[in-house]
Amino acid sequence: AIILGIESSCDETSASICIDGEIKANIIAGQAVHAKYGGVVPELASRAHQQNIIPTVDQAIAEAKIHKNEIDAVAFTRGPGLLGSLLVGTSFSKSFALAMNIPLIEVNHMQAHILAHFIDDPKPNFPFLCLTVSGGHTQIVLVKDYFEMALLGETLDDAAGEAFDKTAKILDLPYPGGPLIDKHAQNGNPEAFKLPEPQIPDLNFSFSGLKTAILYLVQGELKKDPRFLEERMDDLCASVQSRIVSILLNKLKKAAKETGVKEIAIAGGVSANSGLRKGLLEMGEKYGWKVFIPKFEYCTDNAAMIAIAGYQKFLKKDFVGQDIAPLARMHV
Ligand code: ATP
Ligand code: MG
Ligand code: FE
Repeated sequence: AIILGIESSCDETSASICIDGEIKANIIAGQAVHAKYGGVVPELASRAHQQNIIPTVDQAIAEAKIHKNEIDAVAFTRGPGLLGSLLVGTSFSKSFALAMNIPLIEVNHMQAHILAHFIDDPKPNFPFLCLTVSGGHTQIVLVKDYFEMALLGETLDDAAGEAFDKTAKILDLPYPGGPLIDKHAQNGNPEAFKLPEPQIPDLNFSFSGLKTAILYLVQGELKKDPRFLEERMDDLCASVQSRIVSILLNKLKKAAKETGVKEIAIAGGVSANSGLRKGLLEMGEKYGWKVFIPKFEYCTDNAAMIAIAGYQKFLKKDFVGQDIAPLARMHV
């Protein structure tokens, strides 16, 4: 079966072609327009999706070397995300399905981040644990089956990606700051600055205290030395990254202990972080886990993960009708 996957939940317009469970194209159009505002502007995102969606789909079809008449179903992100952005992908997918007379498949974006692990080998076995860390979410999920997932813990305030991006803003780095903190951190000393680890007893997370601690630290130091940020950027980034990673991995360790599950995955944009990837590998070795780390292109938003989730639903004939509407909020 040939599935066309469509992703438009935030600021990436993406189209993918999946043939019998294999990804043949994964085209991602980013949106540079948000950088000067220091964050995603929903109205501009929606407009950019409208401009990008048809060329992106055309490019995916061309790269997969198929004809659009051969597509058997279209799978799209129903939510969660920005409603104006989701509407573009949803409307396109509904029109395409109607015009081509093929079934329509709805996909939950947070489930899709996790299901990206079924694109390439080795694939995890059920049940496995997944730490999903992205721009809007931080979750520990017990994955019992493709579409049967239980939320074990989540953030009480900022998401991990938000913690990276908001800290980057304090450090005067441009948006999105996560990848830049990662880059600076590679040349810095993670123990240069002591940052607090929140004391939360269950499997939930909190990052707002960390953000405040960094803000006060930077404000205080800048008063003493206006060149503080330039001089200590690498050490600051290394210290911030190391604390965010330790918060994430300590909860993952707790979840593994409580559930007894030893297959452990990470997903979402922050799973591209080099400190998290390295830390997870080390922890996996220490505790005898089988760890799963996605390829970089499947960490941040992409339609390949939507197409692979759609393929699994296609096998079950899990289709939706033309009355389907996007949802800004959806549970995993
Ligand atoms: P959600 O999936 O929750 O709706 P989203 O789709 O916006 O949110 P993703 O595209 O999955 O999120 O991830 C984007 C986030 O990942 C941003 O916050 C970005 O800073 C962060 N990120 C990307 N690469 C890295 C990296 N190397 N280190 C740290 N953070 C990173
Ligand atoms: Mg994005
Ligand atoms: Fe995402």
